[in-house]
Amino acid sequence: MTGTVVKSTGSWYVVRDHATQQLHRCRLRGRFKHKGLKVSNPLAVGDVVGFDADPDGDAGTGVIDHIEPRRNYIIRRSVHKAEHAHIVAANIDQALLIVTLASPATSFGFIDRFLVTAEAYSIPATLVFNKVDIYEEELLEYLGQIQNMYERTGYPTLRSSAHTGEGVADIEALLDGKTTLLSGHSGVGKSTLINALVPDLELKTAEISEYSDKGRHTTTFAEMLEVRPGTYLIDTPGIKELGLVDMKKNELAHYFPEMRALLGQCRYHNCRHVEEPGCAVQEGVKKGKIALPRYDSYLSMLADEDNRR
Ligand code: GDP
Ligand code: ZN
Repeated sequence: MTGTVVKSTGSWYVVRDHATQQLHRCRLRGRFKHKGLKVSNPLAVGDVVGFDADPDGDAGTGVIDHIEPRRNYIIRRSVHKAEHAHIVAANIDQALLIVTLASPATSFGFIDRFLVTAEAYSIPATLVFNKVDIYEEELLEYLGQIQNMYERTGYPTLRSSAHTGEGVADIEALLDGKTTLLSGHSGVGKSTLINALVPDLELKTAEISEYSDKGRHTTTFAEMLEVRPGTYLIDTPGIKELGLVDMKKNELAHYFPEMRALLGQCRYHNCRHVEEPGCAVQEGVKKGKIALPRYDSYLSMLADEDNRR
């Protein structure tokens, strides 16, 4: 049988059978080795696995014997040991970042960090500006400018209100037939939106948790929720920021699409685009080809990189 991991709690995996859509409580056969980084979890939500009914277990339990190659995966580095990491999710089609300009406003730094990470993983990202019901006219006008800034850079944007339902249909359309990672600072309305998007959410979550680890609280693990067959949301509770993949020095600008287009044109091939003469990026900022808030995010991320070295 083949299925997708919809929840992992470390020792148990809830797998949805592709043929029957039934959930199975599965364990791993033997040891799975992950090449490269040391990861704390061999399997993650979104992994496609081969499994069989567990001959020694209860009905509905299974044993996973192999994992299909991943199209992509997102990791989070351990804060304690840099070489240790946790796989957050695998086989993601797109990422949706829920943000808001009010109550509480999401910073550009946070948004751009997320977008850089998505670029580094080659995962298409869309920004959803939620809570538009409380924006005053002036803020709505500003929102238009911000949306324009991101759209020009190549990131689709949407407006939504989880309270009035505005824009929820647009989000639904965007999700259709895909596996989407949902992210956002706490308080932006992510849970409220998930409630609006996933029919019978409570029932489904209860069912999954029944299979994952009877009664135990496992809310800190990512979970794949079914909007409808073929359309899935991956919620990552407690994960505010995605872990950046290992970036080589001077690579950061590659993950800003509007800078990437100019990189060949700097005078120095190792230009960091800060105060070097003949820098196409700084020229781009002056000419308005690169928005100032985006460039500021670049500088602040560059400083963080330097501090880490
Ligand atoms: P989460 O932390 O991102 O999951 O945010 P919640 O869904 O728990 O929402 C945080 C707070 O924002 C709650 O008080 C919600 O009622 C409120 N909220 C969520 N969406 C909206 C919205 O679209 N408009 C307004 N005005 N409030 C919202
Ligand atoms: Zn430059």
